[in-house]
Amino acid sequence: MTQTATSPEPVSNPTTAIDEIPALVDASRQTFEGGRSRPLSWRRQQLDALSRLITERETEICDALHADLGKPALEAFAAEVAIVGSDIEYIKKHLAGWMKPQKVSTPVLLQPASARVRQEPRGVVLIIAPWNYPFQLAMSPLVGAIAAGNVVIIKPSELAPATSALMARLFAEYLDTDCIKVVEGGVPETTALLEQRLDYVFFTGSTSVGKVVMRAAAEHLTPVTLELGGKSPVIVDKSANLEVSARRIIWGKCYNAGQSCVAPDYALVHEDIHERFVEQLKKTILEFYGDDAQKSPDLGRIINERHHARVAKLLEGQTVAIGGQVDEADCYIAPTVLVDVDLASPVMNEEIFAPILAVIKVADMNEAVRIVNDRPEPLALYVFAGDSSTAQSVLDSTRSGGAAVNQVLMHLAIPELPFGGLGPSGVGAYHGKHSFDTFTHRRGVLNKPTMMDPPIAYPPYTPTKEKIIRRFV
Ligand code: NAD
Repeated sequence: MTQTATSPEPVSNPTTAIDEIPALVDASRQTFEGGRSRPLSWRRQQLDALSRLITERETEICDALHADLGKPALEAFAAEVAIVGSDIEYIKKHLAGWMKPQKVSTPVLLQPASARVRQEPRGVVLIIAPWNYPFQLAMSPLVGAIAAGNVVIIKPSELAPATSALMARLFAEYLDTDCIKVVEGGVPETTALLEQRLDYVFFTGSTSVGKVVMRAAAEHLTPVTLELGGKSPVIVDKSANLEVSARRIIWGKCYNAGQSCVAPDYALVHEDIHERFVEQLKKTILEFYGDDAQKSPDLGRIINERHHARVAKLLEGQTVAIGGQVDEADCYIAPTVLVDVDLASPVMNEEIFAPILAVIKVADMNEAVRIVNDRPEPLALYVFAGDSSTAQSVLDSTRSGGAAVNQVLMHLAIPELPFGGLGPSGVGAYHGKHSFDTFTHRRGVLNKPTMMDPPIAYPPYTPTKEKIIRRFV
């Protein structure tokens, strides 16, 4: 079943009846306990299968993403397919080394003995994905979960039904379906899954639903990763290269029609360059998307009419420097720059998640830092400055999940950087080795030979034994 970006209502395609979910989770647990997913050979085989899946079925994947989000083919390829491919290759290259037990030193009093940290799978893992990068944000955690030897249940987003249905079909075709199961559906299906005892929950989505997930996981004391959202600021200093900054910021703002968790949400611009910078933003939008951006094949659409109505409302009462056009029937929002934005207005108090940049003039970098620090910790923070000490000072005086200097979004494409939020923008991080670690239980094991067993620690406790123990502890 497919839904175009202009369909009136999101279509959910549940494939698993709610009353079958407990049995599905039980079956996953039995498979895990049977040990099938643990060997390196199984992990490699499944990662190879995922690799084949994205290579052989790239066109279908990009078509589904276009149906769900009007996603331009290049954005679908780069941000949903290629990024997963390089993650798989990176992880495959290092996996055998990561899986090795790590030897640690043993204190004298416990000698002779050896101690190791075993890298063990967590068990049955639930991955809950959002709709904005519906393929990549299901696949990336899946790659980490497989690499760490887990049995996985994936719940794709019901708001991207074409991608959800495609994943269910392709996973059944390419992967070991005893170990990797897809449950399609929305809130009722996710709620039923979260009622089961799971060994790990990896959730990507909104901060409000993140709290629902964490509460449900707490019932079973199940650990979680929460990859959440928020308002990622971009700070533009007077020393910035305005032309390049405008290009990078508009690109990041309009990528996926602004529906990226790490999209620059609002810009705090030094007053000395504010006017010139806004002119540069306008020029860039015209260069990228032409006079009528609605006709550009390079701009995606808002996911559905409900979200479109929310975004359109954010524009009410704002001063538009460029853009501002909306077309509900096409789920279209023009690339838009807002100026003279009041910090108390709704556009500055909810995640925009659309190609709308709110620009705020600041007297200096201290004011920019104050505005950022008055708000919840963002998922990403961007600073554009020609002067590296300014960028350093902004980083030193703010907090965020991740950050980039003179760039947006791309920090998440570096596998060795942990990707995750802080406070309300998330709990935990993944990508590359961090994905392996997220889905791995580090089990500390002591191995003590029996050939010697000095009675020093056993009763009866004598003053001599105490003296020796005090000396070596
Ligand atoms: P969402 O929280 O509405 O939905 C995410 C998932 O949770 C979906 O699979 C949905 O079916 C499920 N869900 C929704 N309501 C639920 C409930 N009450 N109980 C149980 N499950 C429920 O998020 P979304 O709208 O799909 O995605 C957009 C949000 O995700 C934005 O805030 C964005 O910033 C954030 N996001 C974060 C990242 C990241 O990596 N940090 C990436 C992408 C998106």
